[in-house]
Amino acid sequence: MRVAVLALQGAFAEHEQMLSRLHVPFIEIRQKRDLAEPFDGLIIPGGESTVQGKLLRELGLYDELKGSILSGLPVFGTCAGLLLLAGKIQNDTRTHFATMDIIAVRNAYGRQLGSFYTEEEFQGIGTVPMSFIRAPYIAGVFGEARALAMVNGHIVAARQDRQLVTSFHPELNDDLSVHQYFINMIV
Ligand code: GLN
Repeated sequence: MRVAVLALQGAFAEHEQMLSRLHVPFIEIRQKRDLAEPFDGLIIPGGESTVQGKLLRELGLYDELKGSILSGLPVFGTCAGLLLLAGKIQNDTRTHFATMDIIAVRNAYGRQLGSFYTEEEFQGIGTVPMSFIRAPYIAGVFGEARALAMVNGHIVAARQDRQLVTSFHPELNDDLSVHQYFINMIV
């Protein structure tokens, strides 16, 4: 098994460290020729969703990756990665892969609560540490998507078949459980 990490921008190195700690081999996707190597899952890191969305299109990665996700490639998007997968973004006219039945709100916690830490229940895991950085939240799920975690009445993690998203950054804490959850979705 091998996981691809989208390495265009943002916190991809931290995800790679989590995969290393779980002894899961990975490759980086930086350009179109990287898609020639086979992989069984994809991680889309946090960062800036508009920048990643633009680079995905400019580098010619967008169509093939979207097709793979729609064909069932397991994918895990954190923060900006959640925004790339959201079918609808309430405060942005642009969407990106838009493969998940979730309505996201960008920079949802405003300036004052731009970054914060909490611990909450994650369905199927238990209590997990959650670090938020200028995070989106999920205003609602529809269709096939299901909420997996809530913080202060807002959805911060969701799953739809083999797509997983978190508003928070599990790669910034020691806890490996959310990455392990994603690996279990692949195998
Ligand atoms: N605010 C960023 C965006 O809109 C997401 C922040 C993050 O990924 N940490 O894309």
